Amino acid sequence: PPAPLGHNVIPIVNKLQDIFAQLGSSSTIELPQVAVVGSQSSGKSSVLEALVGRDFLPRGSDICTRRPLVLQLIQINRKPDATDDNEYGEFLHLPGKRFFDFNEIRSEIQAETDREAGGNKGVSDKQIRLKIFSPNVLDITLVDLPGITKVPVGDQPSDIEARIRTMIMSYIKLPSCLILAVTPANSDLANSDALQIAGNADPDGYRTIGVITKLDIMDRGTDARKFLLGKVIPLRLGFVGVVNRSQEDIMRNRTIKDALVAEEKFFRGRPVYNDLINHCGVPQLAKKLNQILVQHIKKVLPGLKSRISATLVSVAKEHASYGEITESKAGMGALLLNILSKYSEAFSSMIEGKYEEMSTS
Ligand code: GDP
Ligand code: MG
Repeated sequence: PPAPLGHNVIPIVNKLQDIFAQLGSSSTIELPQVAVVGSQSSGKSSVLEALVGRDFLPRGSDICTRRPLVLQLIQINRKPDATDDNEYGEFLHLPGKRFFDFNEIRSEIQAETDREAGGNKGVSDKQIRLKIFSPNVLDITLVDLPGITKVPVGDQPSDIEARIRTMIMSYIKLPSCLILAVTPANSDLANSDALQIAGNADPDGYRTIGVITKLDIMDRGTDARKFLLGKVIPLRLGFVGVVNRSQEDIMRNRTIKDALVAEEKFFRGRPVYNDLINHCGVPQLAKKLNQILVQHIKKVLPGLKSRISATLVSVAKEHASYGEITESKAGMGALLLNILSKYSEAFSSMIEGKYEEMSTS
């Protein structure tokens, strides 16, 4: 199976979170949210699904995503005797009900979309909140958003475009939000709605990754090389091209796993992309996201460390005021601080290793 999103950072984040939990402090590592933006049917939901590695989102050639879906991935322990992963989903609007069948999750997203936004293409900014519990995920939040659309259809109001843009901006303007700007390769790439709106929210491009979908259905004789290399529109964090499932694949129930194999084969069979492996494929996109998460963790670690030190000092003072020698909290705090320091060192060297690996590959 494909390495899931966050694969490399899961063990480290877990260990750190364990340490913070023992300290009982409110310091935790908050990972950034990841949101997808782009025009309708550009492949946003498909990209999110491929990153999570499970089928559960409504996708299609029509408007499918009509409410923001806030997807919280939550890691659970695998039971030692478990024969499968026991992944399940739970909706905020149906507390306590566990969905083990991911097709049912998709049906419930559709039904809940209709309940709020009607059955006739209406759009609502009221969120659907879904938690996915799985041993294979990193604790991170992904947001699937309705696509930018120009011409109102069905029950959509005449100002649909402005409404959707406002809705999208309310998510991606947050400095802690990573933006996947999704543009289909069979459209005019230079006029990408996705890159335009991402540029408004993140003008310096510190948190925008460009994703080019549908490389498989470009006009014959054309390719996305220049774009992937950032020669058409430059982007600090760069571009990744992907091939997701077509509508036919979806109708034939092609699995994500098969689709990833097909994607790999696609890139291997196209000489124009052979020297761009760092820019091609869902696994590369996951890798890029992981690197960004690692950098983020590296950035927040010193702050966490100093917060713990401060807690430690105040606990020590409190103990001193009782005039007792204890090996309680203060001692434990010192121990944990020690472990944490070791972790950040190990972490830094791991990151350096990664960069070497990157620049030599
Ligand atoms: P969204 O509206 O941006 O969320 O787009 P979806 O993920 O729902 O995809 C829209 C349609 O495009 C679906 O029929 C997908 O099967 C199809 N699609 C998405 N990505 C690709 C791709 O890389 N190649 C091909 N051939 N079809 C794709
Ligand atoms: Mg969608």
